[in-house]
Amino acid sequence: MYYGFDVGGTKIEFGAFNEQLERVATERVPTPGDDYEALIETLVTLIQKADERFQCTGKVGIGIPGMEDAENGTVLTSNIPAAKGRHLRRDLESRLGRTVSIDNDANCFALSEAWDEALRDEPSVLGLILGTGFGGGLVFNGKVFSGKNHVAGELGHTRLPIDAWFHLGDKAPLFQCGCDNKGCIDNYLSGRGFEQLYAHYFGEKVPAVEIIQQYNQGEAKAVEHVERFVELLAICLGNLLTGLDPHVVVLGGGLSNFELLYDELPKRLPKHLLSVARVPKIIKAKHGDAGGVRGAAFLNIETA
Ligand SMILES: [Zn+2]
Repeated sequence: MYYGFDVGGTKIEFGAFNEQLERVATERVPTPGDDYEALIETLVTLIQKADERFQCTGKVGIGIPGMEDAENGTVLTSNIPAAKGRHLRRDLESRLGRTVSIDNDANCFALSEAWDEALRDEPSVLGLILGTGFGGGLVFNGKVFSGKNHVAGELGHTRLPIDAWFHLGDKAPLFQCGCDNKGCIDNYLSGRGFEQLYAHYFGEKVPAVEIIQQYNQGEAKAVEHVERFVELLAICLGNLLTGLDPHVVVLGGGLSNFELLYDELPKRLPKHLLSVARVPKIIKAKHGDAGGVRGAAFLNIETA
């Protein structure tokens, strides 16, 4: 059995998956505020309960909004006060007497999609979340690639390329990022960025869903905005594809529901790629909110 946890700021979701990767158990519990012992106890209790129910020693994977420090193994996260700076993996392993895997939630999202039946045979999958932020995860041959410092896939903190800057024109905004740099694509291409760009050019705050509704009704400002945004996304995605050359790109997060992206990106991308490169399949995520738990559970799948 594979157990997955999606540990978020307010709730912890647990899922158990059998050898056929079918979900056979689900639980949701609140995340203990800043009480580390309570967090450990919550996770251990869910694991022991599942072990008993399924008469096994399940393999444990945990997805967090953050990562482990590559040198000392402590958790780097601002969203889960209880886990921040703690040796979560080491402490769970000693309580449970088994290895535990921890990875970033965007990596878990990508892994979940990569293990969908339709994509299982693809050698590489790039998962991109266009949600509150712009998250990414890379999966090669069924395994997450997280790099030396566990920051591989943190594509939202790559900066706008020069052609993106020209595309944004004389009024190009240089947005400050939470990582202390300026010009990270996180602030332009996420759902938040989509709204921020609209507010910058038109001086009004409008929610992304409303902008898209106005676009569908042919409203001029929304049309201008979407044109600017989609080309900006194509330029930045072109750079990422040149660096990573994935076989498939899977989009998740709120903006992935904007169907126009799946028509427009394949048309716009070729001019931003090397002439020998073909645009990969670009598809919408299948597993939605369940992706975090699935991906966390699948951190422990043995690949050939
Ligand atoms: Zn940044």
